[in-house]
Amino acid sequence: MAAWSLGVMALVLGCRDPSPPLTAEADIEPLVEDTSPSVEPVPPPRTSTRDEASIATGPRLRVLGVAQDAGVPQLGCRCPRCERARAKGDGSFAASIALANPDGHVYLFDASPDIGDQLPLVRSLLNVDRRDAARVRRPVDGIFLTHGHMGHYAGLLQLGFEAAHTDAIPVFGTPRMVELLSTQAPWSQLVEKREIAVHTLTENMPTQVGDVTVRAVTVPHRAEFTDTVGYRIEGPRKTALYLPDVARWEQVPKMRALLAGVDLLLLDGTFYSGDELPGRDLSQIGHPLVTDSMARLQSRVDSGALEVVFIHLNHSNPLLEEGSPARVEVTSRGFKVAERGADFWL
Ligand SMILES: [Zn+2]
Ligand SMILES: [Zn+2]
Ligand SMILES: [Zn+2]
Repeated sequence: MAAWSLGVMALVLGCRDPSPPLTAEADIEPLVEDTSPSVEPVPPPRTSTRDEASIATGPRLRVLGVAQDAGVPQLGCRCPRCERARAKGDGSFAASIALANPDGHVYLFDASPDIGDQLPLVRSLLNVDRRDAARVRRPVDGIFLTHGHMGHYAGLLQLGFEAAHTDAIPVFGTPRMVELLSTQAPWSQLVEKREIAVHTLTENMPTQVGDVTVRAVTVPHRAEFTDTVGYRIEGPRKTALYLPDVARWEQVPKMRALLAGVDLLLLDGTFYSGDELPGRDLSQIGHPLVTDSMARLQSRVDSGALEVVFIHLNHSNPLLEEGSPARVEVTSRGFKVAERGADFWL
């Protein structure tokens, strides 16, 4: 695995010693309702002694978009939800979140096609220096990419020569993701012109950003151009897992291990249920259905061990509709639906 190079990232952000990879033993069975604490790996110790009152001054995650790659309305779609969003001008941006540290450093998770409209949502979180219009070439401090599908990296083009012409923004991804960016036009031009500086992430390797440790975790998902990762984002008090695209539960045998020590799960909620896709063979759907995720995670949510927020919602998903029966069902069961601008403190 020579390609899993550390690159110069350690110089940029500093790295701790890698922790051991997830154990194979924990990867065997899919996560089902599980009330036995004995199989749950012990959560990692918190790294801060700050008291509860200070949590709102620590690092936070902010939701920048909630929709599947294509956003809402989806081009050409005449469904009532897309038509209504088009008419009212209140659609949904593609899924993306930001990590903001109290010192004003801000990192994006994915660069969605809506990045131009999403960056103003983090402006108030930036340090004073970078609110200055003269500093537009460094609008954020880094971008962690999950994979090479349109909704997750197409926004990088807005950093290019015809657009913001940014100044070597660190962009993190797997070896395959970095190779694509480095060798395939138009992405390679961003690298050649030093508008982005690419950094390779290895599985579970810690990247330190202020008080927060970020780790990439590989997950199964369609892999035409790149592999796919989620991000484990470990704050002083809470650990989040950002999984905007992941295969069905049955295809993610290591899900139990992925959730170890996680307090906040931002989970692929592309489709609510099979009813949403009449005529489609459910076994062919490449995402976990929200109904299935709720069944599998209900006990953890009920016990308060896990907060689950559904994100990356397809235009067909009734959770996009305020007051829909699906949304009422989700929230009444203690789950959440991502909302643009919502903050989660770490
Ligand atoms: Zn996606
Ligand atoms: Zn539609
Ligand atoms: Zn995808």
